[in-house]
Amino acid sequence: MRTPFIAGNWKMFKTGREAVTFAEEFKELYQDTDVKTAICAPYVYLGLLKNLFSGTDIKVGAQNAFYEDEGAFTGEISVQMLEDVGVDYCIIGHSERRQYFGETDQTINRKLKRLFAGTITPILCVGENLQQREQEEQYLVVRDQLMGALAGIAPEQAVKLVIAYEPVWAIGTGKTATPQQAEDMCEFIRNAVEALYNEDVADKVVIQYGGSVKPANATEIMNMDNIDGALVGGASLNAKDFMEIIDF
Ligand code: PGA
Repeated sequence: MRTPFIAGNWKMFKTGREAVTFAEEFKELYQDTDVKTAICAPYVYLGLLKNLFSGTDIKVGAQNAFYEDEGAFTGEISVQMLEDVGVDYCIIGHSERRQYFGETDQTINRKLKRLFAGTITPILCVGENLQQREQEEQYLVVRDQLMGALAGIAPEQAVKLVIAYEPVWAIGTGKTATPQQAEDMCEFIRNAVEALYNEDVADKVVIQYGGSVKPANATEIMNMDNIDGALVGGASLNAKDFMEIIDF
């Protein structure tokens, strides 16, 4: 069976001192659990967190990466650089990157290909916005995002993928998709993966839900058949809250 995987997405939050305080507190709390976890932090804290979490099972993730290994790309960070720091996961295609930084299915596809050529596990984000949900286009939107992102990706690569379903209208809004809405889309995603690849890949691929996950709703969400984990924004900034989610 699939191992539950709960990742925190700090987005652009925390000072260096706050990152250290979190890591020390979280290390104490994170014991005796079968749930895998990672903290996806701003680039500048990744090396620091790798050191602070060394000797534990807590993994570290980036929130983006560029597909070229090096070159005149001012301000970008390559997958190769993240590998150098020992990063384990990388979020790709978060809705905030699609919305504010011009991320497209094509760039997401290039980034995924580069990640799969190396050692870092991608967490691919998909999800519809409010207007698309209201027009009942959510399944079409998510299917297109998946097909665009996964074009040319082989089954032996796709099997290692983590997919995060994050309806944009539920991110940071306090408005969670109902567990059934989340489950319906995660089941749809699993079926889409089966159609693109095969049953084995669909069985193994880890699918997370993200969007206002907090201690109070984690159990219900995590108990759904096709939901294997969560991508947690706001509630991952506090070590106790995040640990309560992991202990769902
Ligand atoms: P949220 O963010 O938990 O604060 O809604 C989730 C995300 O954007 O990954």
